[in-house]
Amino acid sequence: GTVEATPIVVLGAGPAGGAVALGLKQLGYTHVTVVGEPRPFSALEGISERVVEGLRNAGFCHALDKIPEPSARFVTWNGVSSQANTERLIDRSAFDSAILMDLAMQGIHVIQGRVKEVETSSLGHRISIDSSGQMIEVEATFLVEARGRAAPSAKQKRIRGAETVSILQYWQGEVEERRSAVESFPQGWAWMAMDEKGKRYLQLTFDVASAVLPEKSRLPEFCLEKLNTLEQARPFIENASYSGEMHARTSTPILCQESIGDNWIRVGDAAMAVDPLSGNGIFQALSSSLQAPAVINTLLREPERALLAQRFHQLRVTELFFRFARIGRDFYATEKQWADSSFWETRIHWPDNQPIHMEPDINKLQVKTLPVVNQGLIDAVEVVTSPDQPLGIWHLNGVPLAPFVQAYQSQGIISALRSQCRDMNLTPEQSRSIFQWFAAQGAD
Ligand code: FAD
Repeated sequence: GTVEATPIVVLGAGPAGGAVALGLKQLGYTHVTVVGEPRPFSALEGISERVVEGLRNAGFCHALDKIPEPSARFVTWNGVSSQANTERLIDRSAFDSAILMDLAMQGIHVIQGRVKEVETSSLGHRISIDSSGQMIEVEATFLVEARGRAAPSAKQKRIRGAETVSILQYWQGEVEERRSAVESFPQGWAWMAMDEKGKRYLQLTFDVASAVLPEKSRLPEFCLEKLNTLEQARPFIENASYSGEMHARTSTPILCQESIGDNWIRVGDAAMAVDPLSGNGIFQALSSSLQAPAVINTLLREPERALLAQRFHQLRVTELFFRFARIGRDFYATEKQWADSSFWETRIHWPDNQPIHMEPDINKLQVKTLPVVNQGLIDAVEVVTSPDQPLGIWHLNGVPLAPFVQAYQSQGIISALRSQCRDMNLTPEQSRSIFQWFAAQGAD
């Protein structure tokens, strides 16, 4: 059909762009082109098990091979030192190259190059690309903006947290076991990691507005002085030497309040970028990208449902942003030594005072018609919303939840669920999970 032949161009080949391209391929779109250039700097990043799961769900294969086993993570926070848990340290250059390989292996057209300009109209997009000095023009009917924090957004309204910068220094020392560490200090926090080749990544995060940072030429010295005060930095800088190389990047939380139009969508960091403290950047990038193919599919195949699909994407992105922002806020609040320092002061009050999780309240359950992903499309169905799940729950263990809430609300007693389970032929295990869910909402 004509929809399959729709040229879709994805700008950026990080985890978000890669996941969207793979998802579109799975939905049968054969004319997908990804334009990307590798990250211009090397970095290690820490990820959790659910990121590995998300990458697997997205269909990555070579990228998964680049993820090492979990390694020890040391923490000094609020004056207490511990070896709390583990994380997997990925080398982003190797990981991102493997993403490109995954795309190529799955038959997705990849143009390696730098996007110089994008001209957008209601008819489509014209993209100018610098590919190793050669200028290429590509036309697209639909555009996926996945260039991360570098994605231009002059026209979009955005919500920004406190302006933050992270300065990364590279050190080299003896080969030791892979590991990472976190430590707080009065003007910010440090994340440190070493890979299996003895390369060390020392990242210091500061507030931009509080003017603690010196002029650029003095930055290396300033960072060194700071690192020398940190207990957790010792194993990373002792018997190691500073390479002289440094990379500063903004790490301000940013939400794009207009992340979708009729013929374009923003995903990953281009839609919302979280504070790196939460270690959830790649996870959130994948979250918005795993559902994006269904949103795009709806815009192209069922344009009469465009508003529904757009609302779905923007609501999900916004909800995710605030959830991570509050998780970050509560983590900052566990550091109580420097409440009068402006770095900590601003971050423990942003974005608001709302708790991460709202108290369950059986009387606040509502059945509403809201958008969900249904077989590769966005569909409006009856879901159950609760104070903690404003976007709604459609299924529980494969069983639609709304009929149970309606049965409970019409009869006002929990035993109403029993006949509903019978009517719907639930297995004992499914019935149990329904009852457990109601119990967790405060039903008795
Ligand atoms: P990106 O991974 O940024 O991918 C965008 C891609 O687009 C890149 O390959 C880039 O080269 C390309 N691109 C940009 N502009 C152009 C252009 N003009 N032309 C062509 N290509 C272009 N997350 C974690 O999970 N764990 C961590 O430990 C962690 N640490 C972080 C530390 C810092 C200081 C920061 C700022 C972020 C950190 N993150 C971390 C977040 C993580 O890096 C991002 O959330 C994640 O990479 C977002 O994925 P993405 O695909 O949206 O964007």
